Amino acid sequence: MHAVVQRLDNAARQAGRPRPRLLAVSKLQPAEAVAGLAAQGQRAFGENYVQEAQAKQATLAGDPRASGIEWHLIGHLQSNKAAVAASIFDWVQTVDRLKLVPLLAAARTGGPPLNVLIQVNIDDEASKHGCAPGEAAGLADAIAAHPRLALRGLMAIPAPLPDLQRRRAAFHRMKVLYDILATRHPSMDTLSMGMSEDFELAIAEGATLVRVGTALFGARQ
Ligand SMILES: *Cc1c(COP(=O)(O)O)cnc(C)c1O
Repeated sequence: MHAVVQRLDNAARQAGRPRPRLLAVSKLQPAEAVAGLAAQGQRAFGENYVQEAQAKQATLAGDPRASGIEWHLIGHLQSNKAAVAASIFDWVQTVDRLKLVPLLAAARTGGPPLNVLIQVNIDDEASKHGCAPGEAAGLADAIAAHPRLALRGLMAIPAPLPDLQRRRAAFHRMKVLYDILATRHPSMDTLSMGMSEDFELAIAEGATLVRVGTALFGARQ
């Protein structure tokens, strides 16, 4: 973890920006790996699958190392899993269509409002989840209208282009969109982008949260 934090610090310093939050992506890693990192002070963990997260939370229940973990859903959310997701996650980073909004709000009955990011398909990849950039404003308004949801910002997974300058251009387009929406929605404070391979580029373009798996945990099973 130390090496990753150092990379984060260096990238933020070079970019002249505050150090972004680190989300440890623990998909396909055992619960013990989560507990180990949590014991070193890591607080935010990202999971891609609702069922896997549920199982991991059950394993870690009562483990003092894992108390206070903040769970983020970063994988595609099917509508029939929205209710469970709203009750077991603190953040859902992958809201990409209107249909999810009332489902999440209705299921978030207790605790603080559910933190929500809008996932944007910034490279317009046919195969990818995420809303079109032009749909983000409407989604933001819908989320902001629900008191049980807290609109926190945007998330993107740009195409893994080998050309790093083109990848960087996608991060830049996200930052432009984020700044436009944030003037309308002052609750927005999070731009989630960048993974193990490219988080320095994302930070240079204004990421406030990076999602790192492999560089923290090693290869997934
Ligand atoms: C798996 C995953 C990550 C982490 O990827 P690494 O390359 O292992 O750092 C980040 N974001 C999302 C949405 C993922 O699915």
